[in-house]
Amino acid sequence: MMPMGSPAAVRVGEYEIVPVTDAAGVLPLAGKFTGASDGDWAAARALDPAAFAEDGGWRMDIRCYVIRRTSDGWTALVDAGVGHEHSPAAGWSPSAGRLPEGLKELGVDPGDVSVVVLTHLHFDHYGWCVDRRGAPLFADARHVVQQADVAALPPDSRAEPYALDPLRRAGLLDPVDGRTPMSPGVAGVTLIPTPGHTPGHQSVLLASGRDEVLITGDLLVHAVQLVNPAVAYESEADPARARAVREEVLAEARASGRVLATAHLTEPFIRL
Ligand SMILES: [Zn+2]
Repeated sequence: MMPMGSPAAVRVGEYEIVPVTDAAGVLPLAGKFTGASDGDWAAARALDPAAFAEDGGWRMDIRCYVIRRTSDGWTALVDAGVGHEHSPAAGWSPSAGRLPEGLKELGVDPGDVSVVVLTHLHFDHYGWCVDRRGAPLFADARHVVQQADVAALPPDSRAEPYALDPLRRAGLLDPVDGRTPMSPGVAGVTLIPTPGHTPGHQSVLLASGRDEVLITGDLLVHAVQLVNPAVAYESEADPARARAVREEVLAEARASGRVLATAHLTEPFIRL
């Protein structure tokens, strides 16, 4: 298994998949993962050395992906990062979110985005759904989330008042149920339920012939879960289910040659 270096984009058929880093920095690592042996940690360090900060912390990227169809510029965004300096993630995030600047550097205006996929409703994935005024930032985009994730939100989650309510009021929230094509007229892009991290966690599969990329959200959050998918992360709602789905997805990726595009590992693209 290997990181693919840092390509600016990966191509699948008529789509290009472009990583955009919203935030990055060091968070505590101790106690976050259970079930990892010393060998697992050594393998993880070999695979993703930059994730291991000198102070023993976890250097993490918080990354979104732009999907762009080269023929006509149709554009989607997968995940919306930590958001602005007053977002729910602001007290946790190791740095301020810069997704709007990152999109601008790619020549993407928020108004160009037709679909925003939220892999799940943790605060480092929905931050830029709204701007500093609380209005939808991607004002012409359908925001797709699994209904199971909306239904499972704890009463104290800030996802509802911060992101989902404004999106609903603007008619931009589209909860879906299960495996779903991304959009009518958008061939080869499918939302795939990958529950466990949250009850309605989903991934995005792009497929064209033998070329496949799976944008994995938080199916795995650290290289240690890539070297040993049985390793649990503390934020997983259902660790047993998360483990089973992770094992299944990694086995499938290994068999198919499918590239994984993760939210939090240092290298955006991994081939097993
Ligand atoms: Zn995350």
